[in-house]
Amino acid sequence: MDLTKSDKILVTCGLPYANGSAHLGHLRTYIPGDAYVRYLKRFGYDVIFVCGSDTHGAPIELAAEQAGVIPKELVDKYHAHYEHIFEKMNIGVDLYGTTEAPYHYHRVQTIIRILEENGHIETREVDLPYCETCQTFLADRFLTGTCPYCGAQARGDECDQGCQRYLDADQLINPRCVTCGSPAIKRSARHHFFKLPDFTEFLIKFNEQLKGTPLARNYALGWIRQGLKEWGISRNLKWGIPYPGDEELVLYVWAENYAGYISFTEEWAGRHNADWEEYWIRDGKLVHFIGADIVYHHAVFWPAMLKGAEYNTPYAIVASGMVKVEGHGLSKSRGFVIDIEEDFIQNGIDLDAVRYYMLSYTGFTRDLDFVWKDFQTKMNNELVGILGNYAYRVLLFIQKNFQVIPDGIIIDPIQEKITETIEALQVAVNEYRFKEATDIVMQLASFGNTFFQQCEPWKSIKEDSKRCERDLYQCLQLLTAIAILIEPTMPTVAERLWLQLGQTGSVHDTQVEACLKPIKPGTKLQKPQVLFDKIFDETIEKMSAILDKRIESARAKAN
Ligand SMILES: [Zn+2]
Ligand SMILES: [Zn+2]
Repeated sequence: MDLTKSDKILVTCGLPYANGSAHLGHLRTYIPGDAYVRYLKRFGYDVIFVCGSDTHGAPIELAAEQAGVIPKELVDKYHAHYEHIFEKMNIGVDLYGTTEAPYHYHRVQTIIRILEENGHIETREVDLPYCETCQTFLADRFLTGTCPYCGAQARGDECDQGCQRYLDADQLINPRCVTCGSPAIKRSARHHFFKLPDFTEFLIKFNEQLKGTPLARNYALGWIRQGLKEWGISRNLKWGIPYPGDEELVLYVWAENYAGYISFTEEWAGRHNADWEEYWIRDGKLVHFIGADIVYHHAVFWPAMLKGAEYNTPYAIVASGMVKVEGHGLSKSRGFVIDIEEDFIQNGIDLDAVRYYMLSYTGFTRDLDFVWKDFQTKMNNELVGILGNYAYRVLLFIQKNFQVIPDGIIIDPIQEKITETIEALQVAVNEYRFKEATDIVMQLASFGNTFFQQCEPWKSIKEDSKRCERDLYQCLQLLTAIAILIEPTMPTVAERLWLQLGQTGSVHDTQVEACLKPIKPGTKLQKPQVLFDKIFDETIEKMSAILDKRIESARAKAN
């Protein structure tokens, strides 16, 4: 591990935007983020984990306007929704905050004031797009036009349908108002700009030594070398955090949302008698889990703001690949989306199996294609066929013949296998290779299955009961290690297995050293229960039909 046990580690996940329900794209980052935190805890590191709702900005103002509600109502609804989803999916944050809370306003306004005092903000008049019909300035999301790079229809902030480049509203060709379609004209307005080019040298050095996934820093370095521009941090919107000292304006949402990582830490620290400055002012190690689509914000704007306002800068930026659904890029408007509540929760899909799938289907930095049929195959072959099968046959055999942990001590080959597994796991987690980490633990279950098979306890129990007991003891020691090592991937199943093994305390508080602590002969075992239910074809057909219907109705709406 590059981190040390004396480090104060803070892990964050990119904040869900509070204008729509949680889908598979969110889980692509949150589940690896949560698994990472759980691995660190199993390895004995000092780590906290925060996340929260991102509640401001033009898209929310626009969505509330369209739904005929005030933005606060919309934001409160989705904030509660995400809190619920985090709990259901076992994403074990220490605090799930919101950028609409007073503690967040306070931190953000403090940061802006420090940036002003340190001379990093310039205020000047600029010509901005204005709609004469709507009599309003048009923030980037209220603007549409043609991308200067690829010719696709683009938004004022990025070429969302074409080349995905980050854009300035000024670069759009034939800009128009989203609400009424009138051409945008220019009108003069006062605005505040963060002097990003002053940080060019700092940002190059910062990204060169940044830990995390290589893609994040390479993207960032490419952008920085193309030349940075001053960055407008105020907006003419009604909904948002008032710009300190210029309350006719609000802060641009991307100038304040990630400050939630600080304000949530502060709020958590206040509730737990801890010191947030250990993370943000002194020597903390900050690890940001994000989707690859927001690398620019996290590896360029955010560290420059932190540096300018004299806070710690990130230690690592860990960027996940994106999500596809049945071979198509995830798109809510086209219906290629899996909704966590509607699809998984309401249909009783095993949520630990979903976590397992998200971690083990493909490498963390690759695009993950969710296919219901593949979900079934993985679940039945790996979770039911290997892990579940191993646990059940061992526990059932012992239940029938002993009811307690039989006599034995750990033999060398088992000791070595568990040690190797833990070492390999540590390397994989350190390099954010979560698929590999999951596979390593599954290999331990395969190893156990083979061991059980080769020992033939159903024979030895008649011929050599001492040997039989000794062999079964090994099987249970392996299962105990597996319960601890699958906890980051499947926390609920891990706890169930832990209890079946007659272990005390919580597996969530147990560290990897306990994998090699000899289990106690004579300990009473619980009646074995299967860990996973097989997924039948009918379930997959039902779920595929739900998805097909969603795609169909999206198509009908578009026409
Ligand atoms: Zn483009
Ligand atoms: Zn208009």
